[in-house]
Amino acid sequence: PSLPFSLPFFKPSPRRPPRGVRMDSSDRPISTLSLRRQKDKILVIMGATGCGKSKLSIDLATRFQAEIINSDKMQVYKGLDITTNKIPIHERNGVAHHLLGVFDPLDGEVSASEFRLTAGLAISDILSRQKLPMVVGGSNSFIHALVVDRFNPDLDVFGGASNPVSTQLRYNCCFVWVDVSLPVLEDYLCYRVDEMLESGMPEELSEYYRWEDPASQPGLRKAIGVPEFERYFKRYPPGRAGAGAGGGEWDEAQRREYEEAVREIKENTCELAKRQIGKMMRLKGAGWELQRVDATEAFREAMKVRTASDSSKNNKKKKRKKKRWMEVWERDVVQPSMKIVNRFLEE
Ligand code: ATP
Repeated sequence: PSLPFSLPFFKPSPRRPPRGVRMDSSDRPISTLSLRRQKDKILVIMGATGCGKSKLSIDLATRFQAEIINSDKMQVYKGLDITTNKIPIHERNGVAHHLLGVFDPLDGEVSASEFRLTAGLAISDILSRQKLPMVVGGSNSFIHALVVDRFNPDLDVFGGASNPVSTQLRYNCCFVWVDVSLPVLEDYLCYRVDEMLESGMPEELSEYYRWEDPASQPGLRKAIGVPEFERYFKRYPPGRAGAGAGGGEWDEAQRREYEEAVREIKENTCELAKRQIGKMMRLKGAGWELQRVDATEAFREAMKVRTASDSSKNNKKKKRKKKRWMEVWERDVVQPSMKIVNRFLEE
């Protein structure tokens, strides 16, 4: 722009836009007003418990230079790693995880406002290092609190039909919803509970009940597994001879009590999945652009691997089934998600 008067020592550089106006990469002027409205891009992986969010997040993080912010309501606390299903370090492939097992459950429940604040700081930190923030976890109320422009902690958006879900978001969000048809997911969830029981969940809970009154750990006391095992450990206190959940001598009554706790865990896990799906449908219905990827077929294949017998004779068969599962996962879940993310990053 030409100045209405000449300045002997000041020549405006042709590259330098006037105050209040900056150029975008195509050299089109954009006002600072619209610049201010340019939001940071984040990726949000949503889905019911057990649908493969953690696995997908690692697959994507290694391809897109991303860091993960956990948005599972129970995994934010230290402790009960098996019971709450935290992704083990060896499965993280070196991808940085934030807000995973960092809050002390003795300090009380992490509120949605606290989550909004701490996860917001983590996002700024990740962005400052030119990485892509990826929010991953099953708590829709945490995700809602984090991404909405104005958060009202007194409003329970999922509580009643009258409370509106906000569509004014403070980030430019790409929502990927990993979906698995409910009957297939329920089968898998029950199977997963059995696997968790085999890999140390009763021992972990037994330790928890040995030292803690659940009421003194408000953070974790609602984690599925804690209330369900309460009656069992009250009747058969940990440390008592023969009373170990997975070992020692069992009498018939004890076995029944244990099996009842397991049945409740399975039922409550399936209920949680249904509630979470309902909440995601609510968000979608309210205008959030949740992009669904269908992992049903991949889960059918995963179940074939899990139910295959472990005998050496069947080892080759099992390997083939595992290969098939990974292929279907890549085809149905990873590739479609990558397309969604690529499109989003190019926008
Ligand atoms: P709500 O509004 O009901 O709290 P939310 O969407 O905010 O739902 P969810 O993630 O659905 O939060 O968790 C609700 C409940 O499900 C938890 O209080 C806990 O009982 C159980 N839960 C969630 N995640 C886990 C987990 N990883 N391990 C064990 N229990 C869990």
